[in-house]
Amino acid sequence: MATVRSIEALAVSLPRATPYLGPLAEGERVNARGYVVRKGNRTIYPTADRSVIVKATASDGTVGWGETYGIVAPLATLAILRDVLAPVVEGRDPRDAMAIWQDLYDLMRVRGGASGFYGDALAGVDIALCDLAARIEGVPLAQWLGGARRERIPAYVSGLPKATLSERVAFAREWAAKGFDAFKYAAVVSHEGVVEEMQALRAALPRASLMVDLHWKYTAAEALALAHELAPYEPAFVEAPVAPEDIAGLAEVAAGSPVPVAAGEEWHNVYEAGWRLPLAKLAYVQPEIAHTGATQFLAIARHARQCGARIAPHATIGVGIFMAASLHASAALDDCAWHEYQHSVFDGNLAHVDTAMRCEAGFYTLPRGPGLGAVPRESLWAYRMDL
Ligand code: MG
Repeated sequence: MATVRSIEALAVSLPRATPYLGPLAEGERVNARGYVVRKGNRTIYPTADRSVIVKATASDGTVGWGETYGIVAPLATLAILRDVLAPVVEGRDPRDAMAIWQDLYDLMRVRGGASGFYGDALAGVDIALCDLAARIEGVPLAQWLGGARRERIPAYVSGLPKATLSERVAFAREWAAKGFDAFKYAAVVSHEGVVEEMQALRAALPRASLMVDLHWKYTAAEALALAHELAPYEPAFVEAPVAPEDIAGLAEVAAGSPVPVAAGEEWHNVYEAGWRLPLAKLAYVQPEIAHTGATQFLAIARHARQCGARIAPHATIGVGIFMAASLHASAALDDCAWHEYQHSVFDGNLAHVDTAMRCEAGFYTLPRGPGLGAVPRESLWAYRMDL
């Protein structure tokens, strides 16, 4: 049986015309390293699409690809991959991906390695090993992960990156005309007001599923008051209402909200899910495969289903290898309500991925295998960053 001969990792930075979440508002500025913090938000974002790509090569020459979260300080994740993880994984059987994730987690769990950059590095290795194992067996990743239950996955349009509310409503209508019926906007760039934006979108799109990302910015009391104001417009969910560490607050909002509550994009593993899910009765859990890898994505989703939540996977900023992994993992779930569609990231960056994966008319099409059914194109390496 083929074993892992090498694990290599590269960081890339792809320029983009408009910053993620839309044009800069008055008072927002890009710093010398290319990062921006939005007014009303406390999270830093890049103005380029940054990501970390992992290449796993087997002793028989088969290559598997992974991609992990690298939007801020991707070189930190790169250092962990090269310095710590690669030498430990080399020589292992890629079919042991789930056990390898646990072994790597154990190496650094007592040193803050249960999450953060280390968790992201684990995710990249996990995706690459799963792709490699599936390619060696000659099957699509979804099948290797347990079985493909669907070939199309419903998508919601994420972000309406325009400067004014009327432009954002018009933008949503453009996507509706292309066959999409679910839309999410971001409270942190809802300059005319979160409730006003929901009201305007509902008036324009009477039958659409509408969601709002609250970006962890409220107290539980504030989030509940806001949920009551939004309820008449029947949102499909409100996302990330309170700070990630405020588990009691999340539980309070989930219990008292008149509209469904979604959370979970920042979790890296089933432990982080397990601290929250029994307390917070969420309607939707949103695993991000570039934090979790494929095996923990499935572990979180199964735990969430046991707790009564539906699954609505998150999509970060990246090249698209992680998206292929997320679609395969989503296809292997017994439930997938929608998968997030970051149109401003996904469509442009597909130029650097050799794949049949697409998102059109409200649905993603699952790339056919073997493995991910997606590999980076040579053009990507022109954008590499290095230590
Ligand atoms: Mg979000």
